Amino acid sequence: SASTIKPQDIDPSKLTITKTTTPKELVPPNELVFGRTFTDHMLSLEWTAAKGWLPARITPYQNLSLDPASSVFHYAFTCFEGMKAYKDANGQIRLFRPNKNMARLNKSSARICLPTFDGASLIELISKFVQTEERFIPSTKGYSLYLRPTMIGTQRTLGVGPPGSALLFVIASPVGPYYPTGFKAVSLEATDYAVRAWPGGTGDMKLGANYAPCILPQIQAAKRGFHQNLWLFGEEEYVTEVGTMNMFVAIKNKETGQKELITAPLDGTILEGVTRDSILGLAHEKLVPEGWKIIERKYTMKELSEASKEGRLIEAFGAGTAAIVSPVRNISWKGELVDCGLRPEIEAGEIALRMKEWIEAIQYGDEEHEWSYVV
Ligand code: PMP
Repeated sequence: SASTIKPQDIDPSKLTITKTTTPKELVPPNELVFGRTFTDHMLSLEWTAAKGWLPARITPYQNLSLDPASSVFHYAFTCFEGMKAYKDANGQIRLFRPNKNMARLNKSSARICLPTFDGASLIELISKFVQTEERFIPSTKGYSLYLRPTMIGTQRTLGVGPPGSALLFVIASPVGPYYPTGFKAVSLEATDYAVRAWPGGTGDMKLGANYAPCILPQIQAAKRGFHQNLWLFGEEEYVTEVGTMNMFVAIKNKETGQKELITAPLDGTILEGVTRDSILGLAHEKLVPEGWKIIERKYTMKELSEASKEGRLIEAFGAGTAAIVSPVRNISWKGELVDCGLRPEIEAGEIALRMKEWIEAIQYGDEEHEWSYVV
């Protein structure tokens, strides 16, 4: 019977491409602003509960037309990804660990009752899409095409329930280097009056609902002169994430003097950053032989403050797709300015510098690595 027929998964062979008749003018690379300009086309796939995924389409970049009752507008049925396409020295386009983004999008969408999909099929479609937008990817190192896969619930009903229809789309924005003139270490304000995520919550997913409430504390921090806010959790004041990046600290162990690279564990309150995972992998491979210990554990602001005062805090940095690494100069906490170990004349610690170099070499194909996916 019809009820036993499974709705179909994504079939990349059914892709249709409609090219724009009004190609955009390219923005000069040095004038690119993150997320401000978009390419000529977009990739879209519709889903219905009855039929599953309908054929994918690449069309001119255009407005969506949605009923005002669509579930996305009322109950935050929206999740997204952030990833990049890079052009290597031979002009080939590469993605960085795209399977990680697909797995994370599936995890996010499943949590808010949106459909899941075969990751390899969407990577195939994204590959076709970035090939279509090839002229928008600057070939200079540090430049890339930021990709924003997004899934929304589109069913027109105010009933609170699982959406019976959804739209998955991917848009693309050419971006320049996060630090065009070299690293600039940031000052953070530890946020003690709001929490980003909590045990049993959804902080480990890229749901739109996680992001809107995070802007106000960021504005508050900026008003007081800080670049970003640092998210703490609980009475212990565990350090969790910095803005929209994972946080790493390098500390000399109080008892043993052992050098340790520490980041918070994936306990459900931390986003599973692709950069975080890559840094941990590279650290195990390259820093452990140099005598470092790599540790995923909870750590507190008090610990950081103590390590700083005792001269044991070596460096701290955020990690994410946008900047790869973002060195931290100091953290404002309880009226104290915790110095994160960078000498005044330098803008980045050694670990942050080396991580950026190692990861970029893979992203731009200077070093062949299984993390780099040639489209
Ligand atoms: N934490 C949060 C809250 C984020 O939004 C992001 C950006 N996706 C990250 C960490 C870093 O993740 P990634 O390395 O995958 O960009």
